[in-house]
Amino acid sequence: MSPKLLLVVPCYNEQEILQLTNQKLNAYFDNLISRGIIRSESKICYVNDGSKDSTWDIIEELSSNNSRILGVKLSKNYGHQNALLAGLFEYKGIFDCYISIDADLQDDINAIEPMIDRYNEGAAVVYGVRDDRSNDSFFKRVTAETFYKIMLKLGVPVVYNHADFRLINDQVLEELTHYREVNMFIRGIIPTIGMKSAKVTYKRLEREAGETKYPVSKMVVFAWNGVTSFSTVPMRMVLWFGIINFFVAVAIGLYVVISQEMGHTVAGWTSTVLPMAFFSGSNMIAIGLIGEYIGKIYEEVKARPRYIVEKSSDLNISDSKKNI
Ligand code: UDP
Ligand code: MG
Repeated sequence: MSPKLLLVVPCYNEQEILQLTNQKLNAYFDNLISRGIIRSESKICYVNDGSKDSTWDIIEELSSNNSRILGVKLSKNYGHQNALLAGLFEYKGIFDCYISIDADLQDDINAIEPMIDRYNEGAAVVYGVRDDRSNDSFFKRVTAETFYKIMLKLGVPVVYNHADFRLINDQVLEELTHYREVNMFIRGIIPTIGMKSAKVTYKRLEREAGETKYPVSKMVVFAWNGVTSFSTVPMRMVLWFGIINFFVAVAIGLYVVISQEMGHTVAGWTSTVLPMAFFSGSNMIAIGLIGEYIGKIYEEVKARPRYIVEKSSDLNISDSKKNI
């Protein structure tokens, strides 16, 4: 049977484009429903992420005129990732699969149908991957692609050129609720959940109205959050830097002692430089070591699930009693 789909659309100050987006999404839904690709109870959910313009008024109006449209209003601006989670968690357990998409429709909606196809073939997660960024500005393209490359180098499990346009099934959504960290970097978490995944490629389109809600400052914060949520590499670099520093300090120490012996120094120089070199090296090592433990504490505080069971056989209660 075709699935019941929820489309989650986070919206922050999107009054210029929301009507147009809704028209397109609705027409697309009509088409998918008439061809039996998705069930008629499928819905579109707009999450207002504390917009300062009339975005929420538009969402309210759309949902009062059309039962297919759902609205979620956040009390203030919590950021794209949280807005997305709010929409997903609000309707958890009600739909078969969930697709997240940006309000500006830069992610091609025509990729939704192939995503459903992959879902029907058994994929629990379908990543929308941008294989053509020719519509992005040079700056956006370079920064975005550098972002993915650095992330992958640092061991963050992102899918190259995949943002937050993806399908997840109800089971993956349920698992997502077990990740209790406050700063959730969703596109890194989903691959760690595992299960069968697939990719659908599409061409990234231009924003038709309004402007980007991701200025450089937000992009940097976002990337940094991704790195610090998944990678202890920066912290370990401090430790390595400390160890290298220590050896340099030993070399400086030798130089200082030899200079002293050869009488090239003024009084007081050796006793100043020698401890400085020694302590700066050992300080760095100590900070790195503390960092290692803080890293461990951080992992514990996040309390991520140790493992996820995808399937297990049903056990009849009477059977289990017999075995005991
Ligand atoms: N967005 C949000 N909260 C924010 C910033 C952005 O919900 O604080 C939404 C925004 O409305 C859009 C999506 O996140 O639906 C992606 O933003 P945008 O298209 O501006 O980013 P870009 O495509 O330029 O990276
Ligand atoms: Mg956009």
